[in-house]
Amino acid sequence: MMGLEPKSLAKLAEKYYPDVIGYGANCGIGASELIGTIICLANERINEDMLLIAKGNCGIPEFIEGKIAYTGTPELMAEYASLARAIGADIIGGCCGTKYEHIVAMRDALRNKRQSQIIDLDAITQSLGKMSAGNTALIDGYLNPNKKIKPSVKKKMRRRKKRPD
Ligand SMILES: [Zn+2]
Repeated sequence: MMGLEPKSLAKLAEKYYPDVIGYGANCGIGASELIGTIICLANERINEDMLLIAKGNCGIPEFIEGKIAYTGTPELMAEYASLARAIGADIIGGCCGTKYEHIVAMRDALRNKRQSQIIDLDAITQSLGKMSAGNTALIDGYLNPNKKIKPSVKKKMRRRKKRPD
């Protein structure tokens, strides 16, 4: 929504490795949109040592009785967290509207849920909500002909070398 387009962000951040060790997206208009952005970033990542960060809003913000409220349930955020990891995110959290109960559900999902090897765009929108036409178009190039998303091959977590001063 603000900042750089995902492709531009990835390109810029990669240029400054190892001074920059990761990049990602936060906030926005719901977990589905953020997953779309993460799909793009995961596919643009060149250096597998770069950390990919996903911090989606807890659903979609709504103005109710003079206050901003978020539509995301703990179950929705758990599904979002699982998808973010399957796509290739290394650091996963929540942004606006995320509360203790959402974090608990996300933690449990990341601990317990088996990863699907293939991610279906329809499944994303069914579980997390609609994705804008702009974002769908953005990720269209990363989908295989069956409209499935191949998650990036996960690197093994390894200790980072200490950076020179
Ligand atoms: Zn936010």
